Amino acid sequence: MKIQRGDMVVVTAGNHKTSTPHKVTSISADGRKVVVENVNSAMRHVKRGHPKSPQGGRLEIDLPLDISNIQLHCPSCNQGTRVGFRYQEDGSKERYCKKCDARISEVAPAKPAYAKS
Ligand SMILES: [Zn+2]
Repeated sequence: MKIQRGDMVVVTAGNHKTSTPHKVTSISADGRKVVVENVNSAMRHVKRGHPKSPQGGRLEIDLPLDISNIQLHCPSCNQGTRVGFRYQEDGSKERYCKKCDARISEVAPAKPAYAKS
């Protein structure tokens, strides 16, 4: 999966388009929808006994967006980019920015089988 929970993303299309980075709070199991913090939020009325609002009342919740409308935000070139995967010299796997080639995060620890000799 190119986008993971906790990633910073920008919304590139749709009604909630924004160029400032926001945090991904969850991803649907099929990987098609993502919930992004403070994007596409709506007020929901909840009854008493709701864990986040024991008294009941109105609660602001974030609704899912289609994953095709978001891009990972690259901290080094400060924009939304496409993501690639590659193996490092030591055999560890990482995600990288396709625009500036910067490493974004490590995906898997070093494995000798993938190391370049
Ligand atoms: Zn970049």
